[in-house]
Amino acid sequence: MQKENLIIIGSGPAGLTAALYAARANLNPLLISGNEIGGQIAITSEVENFPGFDSILGPDLIEKMRGQAERFGARMEINEVTEVDFTHGSPFHLKVYSDEYEANAIIIATGASARRLGIPGENELIGKGVSYCATCDGFFFKNKDVLVIGGGDSALQEGLFLTKYANRVRIVHRRDTLRGGEVLEARAKANDKIQFVWNTTLDSIEGNNKVEGVQARNVQTGSTEQWETDGVFVFIGHFPNTQLFKEQLAMDEQNFLLVDKFMQTSVPGVFAAGEVMDPIYKQAISSAGQGCQAAISVERYLESLHDQALVK
Ligand code: NAP
Repeated sequence: MQKENLIIIGSGPAGLTAALYAARANLNPLLISGNEIGGQIAITSEVENFPGFDSILGPDLIEKMRGQAERFGARMEINEVTEVDFTHGSPFHLKVYSDEYEANAIIIATGASARRLGIPGENELIGKGVSYCATCDGFFFKNKDVLVIGGGDSALQEGLFLTKYANRVRIVHRRDTLRGGEVLEARAKANDKIQFVWNTTLDSIEGNNKVEGVQARNVQTGSTEQWETDGVFVFIGHFPNTQLFKEQLAMDEQNFLLVDKFMQTSVPGVFAAGEVMDPIYKQAISSAGQGCQAAISVERYLESLHDQALVK
């Protein structure tokens, strides 16, 4: 059993910013990253709204955050937390694949994962034309035809990115107005390779070992059509990664962790930051800010534990 002062779970902007602040406060944090470092932003193409950078690639931004936290002494372990026990208070117990930890305080920054459409053919054709990451898979669609599903900023931004490779990008949205911001909308509408298909959802994705087409449905008329295409990129939002904390921490009806104004969850000493607790803002910069807040709160929490021990 390895004893730690503070364990941060998750390595997106929230976790890495918490690690930076905690390291600078001499809390000697250990960050357990998950299978890959960086979370959603590491698979994002260009980030143009992180203050201080006119434009930076998602993976580069994460690399800078990671380097900065490590320079101040934060330790990173690429591993996955498989079990937690918060039921007896601090110190808390955590299991990773081959080890166990005890920690005086925890910051949960496990983020959110891409939502799936839940239609026939989707799961079977993941990696064979169905994708949730344009940065990862766009290259495979040189001179091809792709569909982008969704009407938010992700669909617009990743659709624009895909025009670097694909001949035609059809953005398929279930309504006739977009949810994304005006700048991305104007840019997408001005791009010759992008076409919008309104009021439409997919019933199924079809193909023999690779995507060959879809069945699309007009939600107003109910009529369906078969379309040929080479790829289906799905950007329909995310769900919080809170499965691990079920029955142990309070959550809202959508399974986001509930925190107080100090970023503390329903268990004293367990804090949360980023998209795992934020159903509203969901930006790299807001997640980073929440990571900073959580680390400052942990510092105060650990001081209070220390004070209590002195008085006893
Ligand atoms: P989002 O804003 O929640 O948009 C999800 C989109 O998918 C919506 O248009 C929604 O339709 C559609 N959708 C949801 N379920 C669907 C289903 N089952 N079938 C078909 N369509 C479905 O998610 P997001 O685009 O990933 O953005 C998440 C957050 O990140 C937002 O706050 C966004 O501003 C931010 N973001 C910002 C940038 C940027 O600023 N550059 C880039 C990416 C993301 P409805 O509109 O009808 O609900």
